[in-house]
Amino acid sequence: MSVARIYTVNKSKRDYTCGATGHTIPAGSPYRWFKVGFRSRTKQIRCMDHDPKMSERESSKMAGVWAALEDAESQISALAGDVEYRAYIDLDNITLIMGDAADAIREVADEYREAAEAMGGAGEEMEEKADLIEDGASEIEGWSGDLEDPDDDEEIDPDEAISDYEGRFAEVRDEAISLLWDTTFD
Ligand SMILES: [Zn+2]
Repeated sequence: MSVARIYTVNKSKRDYTCGATGHTIPAGSPYRWFKVGFRSRTKQIRCMDHDPKMSERESSKMAGVWAALEDAESQISALAGDVEYRAYIDLDNITLIMGDAADAIREVADEYREAAEAMGGAGEEMEEKADLIEDGASEIEGWSGDLEDPDDDEEIDPDEAISDYEGRFAEVRDEAISLLWDTTFD
């Protein structure tokens, strides 16, 4: 149940392959490596440009949580909110994506709870972990965004209104993504 430590080598002695996209890291250039899991034999190699994702570094059930957050982030990032009515649809879509993420995170909590039950009295710590993960899921599910026009007294032309919505939608989208990564599970 730990996140793999990342080691940096400043000058590689030979060519390596970056595990992110499979490109070559030429001999003489810096690279990073990490191992996932206790006594793992497989060294994961990354170039300096491709940061290992949390889910790639995580050896435990928590990988499911990080994967859910990453999935939600990429779905939310893809939403454009490009015109007024569309922005409201996309706002609803963020709510749905956050709900799906919460569901996926709760499944991880269930895994901890099952493991805790299997361990009997010794599973108390895992039981607490399950509670904390569920709290995090609720926080994410509780997200709500608002596109209300703060200047509703002002007359603005339709073109401006659209770019105004785009700007505010982008803010709301960033807030949702921030909530994903600011939520703690421990
Ligand atoms: Zn790379």
